[in-house]
Amino acid sequence: MSLAAVVGLSFALASHSSTSPSSCSGSDRWVILAHGGAGAWQGPEHLLARRRQVLREAVAQGARLLADGTGALDVIETVIVRLEDAPELNAGRGGIPNREGFVELDAAIMRGHDLAAGAAAGLRTIKNPIRLARAIMEQSPHVFMVDRGAVAFALEKGIEQVNPSWFLVPRPPPPASEGKKSGTVGVTVLDRCGEIAAGTSTGGYDTKIPGRVGDVPVIGAGTYANAKTAAISATGWGEYFIRYTAAHDVSARMAYGGASLDEAMKAVLRILREPEDARGGMIGVTADGKWAAHFTSMGMLRGVATFKAPTPRVGIFADLD
Ligand code: ASP
Repeated sequence: MSLAAVVGLSFALASHSSTSPSSCSGSDRWVILAHGGAGAWQGPEHLLARRRQVLREAVAQGARLLADGTGALDVIETVIVRLEDAPELNAGRGGIPNREGFVELDAAIMRGHDLAAGAAAGLRTIKNPIRLARAIMEQSPHVFMVDRGAVAFALEKGIEQVNPSWFLVPRPPPPASEGKKSGTVGVTVLDRCGEIAAGTSTGGYDTKIPGRVGDVPVIGAGTYANAKTAAISATGWGEYFIRYTAAHDVSARMAYGGASLDEAMKAVLRILREPEDARGGMIGVTADGKWAAHFTSMGMLRGVATFKAPTPRVGIFADLD
């Protein structure tokens, strides 16, 4: 296939995505799951309580939007922007600085029915990386952008930029036992049109070398959505989620092996632990409304609401209330 044909195909995908319905009322069924990272269990009690509250409110907003018929991508963007703006979570403002002390952010979004996806990495000035990921998906012929070109594209599309210092917020000193600080935010949604989609956004972790890119914007590693299987957002030690193409492995186990979302997610999380005990978690939803949230880390901040149980339930450890 010629390059022109490839670009033409990409533009076809991009223009298809811009016609994505923002209002859905075909079915009564909707589901939203959100996570605030596998590292979110670290920190003092009052911070954990605050994180739970932030996530609860974000899931509640997403649930209202879905019940009103808002489309999956709009819900994901709205909820992730809210989580990115929350200084308690490791995405957007409050992102964890890398080992040289500045924040570099990664994000991705993907839609299930046509595999349309957008991702951006290493961002130092984009206030809400998920907005840029969505613009790349919908308004460019590409999937993944980085560096000056990504910033120039964001400028062209009117995406807000801020001074890098805007992301830095005071952090409580960690207890000695904590280890590396990490976290991420992610959302998976089934909307009333039957569409599923996933989005993820992160600051990575504190010991990362400037320029390091994690699993979050690598489609198939930390973020993946396929209407035939599931929409998945992951959190954990990104290098292993990349090596094992973790989110896509969940999808592949469902597609080729006939596994349920629950079984596939548990199997992948188990396998990730084999080489170096890489721990983490995932959330996911299928087009027929099944959902799963599992983790092998000490905890994972997560929340869920569905058309059957619209009041958000939130947990960090085994609890979900
Ligand atoms: N997966 C993220 C990364 O490696 C970090 C996390 O989810 O805690 O960038």
